[in-house]
Amino acid sequence: MSIFLRNGLVYTGGEFQKKNLLVKDRETIIQTDQCPDDAEVIDCTGFHILPGLIDPHVHLREPGHSEKETILSGSKAAAHGGFTSIFAMPNLNPVPDSVEHLNVEQNIIDRDAVIGVLPVASITQNQQGEAISDIAALSMHTILFSDDGVGVQSEAIMEQAMKEVARCHGVILAHCEDNRQVARGWRINAGHKAEELGLIGVNNESEASEVRRNIELVRKTGCQLHICHISAKESIEAVRRARKEGLPVTAEATPHHLLLCEDDITENHGRFRMNPPLRSREDQLALVEAIQDGTVTMIATDHAPHTREQKDTDLEHALNGIVGLETSFPLIYTYLVKTGKITMERCMELMSINAHQTFHMKEHGLELADLSIWNLEEAYQINPDEFLSMGKSTPFAGQTVYGRCELTISKGTIAYRRN
Ligand SMILES: [Zn+2]
Repeated sequence: MSIFLRNGLVYTGGEFQKKNLLVKDRETIIQTDQCPDDAEVIDCTGFHILPGLIDPHVHLREPGHSEKETILSGSKAAAHGGFTSIFAMPNLNPVPDSVEHLNVEQNIIDRDAVIGVLPVASITQNQQGEAISDIAALSMHTILFSDDGVGVQSEAIMEQAMKEVARCHGVILAHCEDNRQVARGWRINAGHKAEELGLIGVNNESEASEVRRNIELVRKTGCQLHICHISAKESIEAVRRARKEGLPVTAEATPHHLLLCEDDITENHGRFRMNPPLRSREDQLALVEAIQDGTVTMIATDHAPHTREQKDTDLEHALNGIVGLETSFPLIYTYLVKTGKITMERCMELMSINAHQTFHMKEHGLELADLSIWNLEEAYQINPDEFLSMGKSTPFAGQTVYGRCELTISKGTIAYRRN
């Protein structure tokens, strides 16, 4: 079955042009005015047609925590947000630390996912940081390795893992958190807001010291390294230096770290609780600068759903993590593109093109007929009740944004359609 997209404003070569597109046989997208008789015709007049978005950092919670999210609900939420490929983080039960455990997750993906879901295997067994996973065997199934949720504390273990991942031509996605620097019981950033609310804060160094250590290990091992959800200005500076030096280091930033800081914590509520926390205004500005100058090359949501009870409480008792798949593009478009802080071209690099290149997705058969189609004119308020994700907690609820996803096509198939 083919899909004929009539009269859309198609993003090509940095600008929008009115065109007709044919998504042919679930495989290719061609520009043509010839509509085959058997094609489904979709009128895209007034809509903007963008590449399918890629999110390299999502928690789908299944297997193991399907009271928070499932591969079905999470992938539907992703499609609703215009995403056509997402990476699923390994803090699951079982942790995908062996092919046997990875297959438990892969079987659910094969059965339920409505878009491309790429499983990320764990760096260490059961994510406990003590012994590395079966990286050689796992690398036949994924090139992505992470212990996201926790930092790998032992330098020797991380070095061993990086050597093995490098040998297998994989990539380490590093959640950088040095437990020696972390204040036990931290809830938000160490700063004026923590003092004001009487909460324990966590400092920038807890992230930056492990970012620097991991970069040193890249120098030693040659392993490709991607820094997850970078948030501290000191970490950004370390990545900037590494990239100038030509080391294979990339980094991602979340919409919440780009658009909010600790000053925006307006009340003592769990929707402001995440790891890393909202940092200082200075860190936030450094992060925006980093996406402008190409130090940080990807935007990732770190979509991390929890149950209502786990989030609708105060900062002391809430769990870390907010949802982001269904608000990421509208937020970035509204507050960074429309305000002129970044161009649409840079936005597409950050939300699609760079991930595709950095993670060698084409070589792995992921050059797909993937598109996201948007009404960029319509303003609306973010309403978590409209999310397809089971998670509803976001600090952006009620915020006015532009950009409604009208249609998402993943692998040539309609994954989301607005009714
Ligand atoms: Zn993380």
